[in-house]
Formats: sequence, structure tokens, C-alpha cells
Amino acid sequence: MNVLSPVCETHGYAWLLAFDFDGTLVIPDEDPPVHPQFFEIIRRMRASHKVLWGINTGRSLMQTVQGIGEARFPFLPDYIIAREREIYTPNDFGRWVGLSDWNKRCDNEHGKLFRKCRRLLKCIRKWVEQETGAIWGMQDGEPAGIVASTATEMDYIVKKLDQDLQDTPMLCYQRNGIYLRFSHRDFHKGSAMAEVARRSDLDADRTFAIGDSHNDLDMLDLTLAARIACPHNACEEVKSRVLSSGGYVARGVASVGAIEALRSAFSLED
Ligand SMILES: [Mg+2]
Repeated sequence: MNVLSPVCETHGYAWLLAFDFDGTLVIPDEDPPVHPQFFEIIRRMRASHKVLWGINTGRSLMQTVQGIGEARFPFLPDYIIAREREIYTPNDFGRWVGLSDWNKRCDNEHGKLFRKCRRLLKCIRKWVEQETGAIWGMQDGEPAGIVASTATEMDYIVKKLDQDLQDTPMLCYQRNGIYLRFSHRDFHKGSAMAEVARRSDLDADRTFAIGDSHNDLDMLDLTLAARIACPHNACEEVKSRVLSSGGYVARGVASVGAIEALRSAFSLED
């Protein structure tokens, strides 16, 4: 189902559901990577609650599509937000198509920002390469990213970045465990999710979001999603945000936690 399609407007979605991928919905090394009951619940909620459901991830689109295949999803999500900011929907043939105006704007703004901050990013890169064991650049097409060797090392790097970026409020970063991607302040999991909601004629009151890592904090925000949750394996910062916002911290890990959170948020029966 395409959020741009006129079909969607006549369909009248009542809820937007946003799921982080790794650690929230999927544990790639487990068998099965997603608890099968998750898909049963989504199937039921599509009819009972008219939900539009999708993945909101730090993975690239290609990595996400690959992950969906490996995790043997029985049907496709209605949308994918990739690299925390790019929005894609499947066409009638299941091929993923970018929301061109949003994705183009996102690309342009990042290009402009990285050009403007070239000198600062160069200094940060030098520091990272000289003072830490981390690697600069995380994948092809990623102009500025860091992969640390441990989470503790990334804690150390992030402390330094928080100081270095103080005077450039437009330049932010998205952290997921040992991975970090520099980004524009206006494009993150929260703003991209809100854009999907806006195009689907939904708002924060009609949005549910669940995630487990630092880069999920932008969508675990009550101004963008009235119902928020995290699985048991979420990092401490996420758990504390969800708890202090009156959200749901699941007892189950990953998809088992997501199932639990959906049941709690929508008072679903077993
Ligand atoms: Mg995650």
C-alpha cells in the first residue's frame, strides 16, 4: 500500500505504527528472527484498527530489504524509513519507491550542510583516527560516519562530539550502539515518521512507535507519537525516556516485546 496512492486516502487509515528493525523487531541470528505471532497481530490490526505499519531503521534501504527477506516476512510493511530519514513505499509490484520530494530535500540539505561543515568534520575525523580505535565512514554513499570498536569507545566519542558540535546546531548525529552517522537536525526517525503520518492524514495522537537504541529517541517523543514503547533489551537511555513519558517498557526481548507492547497499547486480547 503506497502512502502516496489515492487508494490510501479513501482507505482511511486510523493508526500509524512505526517499528525500529534491529533489536526491536528482528534479531537476525535467532530462528525465527521475528516471532510469527507478530505478523498475525499486524494482519488482524490491519482489519480491526486500520493500521499503516512500517519499519523505521538506521539501515540503508538495500540492507533493510535484505533483512526483511532474511527474516522471512510473510508480507511487506507499508513503508520503510531508511538511514533514519529516507522514506520509501512499495509500488504495486513490491518495488520500493522513494518519496521523491522528501528524499530529494533530505539529500540536498545534507549535501549543503556537509559542505558547510567540511572543515569541522575533517577535524573530527582527524581526532577520531588519531585518538581512538574507531573507523571513519560506515558504508558507500555515507559521507560522514563512525564505527567504534566498542560501545564504551562510542560513549567517549559522543562526549567529545557533544562539545565539538555545540556551535553548529544544524549538524547532529544518530547513534546506534557502536555506529554513528552525522545528520541534519531536521531529518531523523521522528521527523520522517511525522511526515509519513502527515501524508496519511494521521497525527501524533494516532501514532505508535517502538525502538531500542539512541537513534530511536527522536521518534520516542510524545509530541510525535502518543503511544511509545521499547523492548526489554533497549538501552538505558531509551528505557528511561519511555518510562518518564508514561510509555510501555516490555518484559520481552525484541519482537516478543513488540507483541507485548502492541497488546498493551491497543488493549488487544491474546
Ligand atoms: Mg535497534
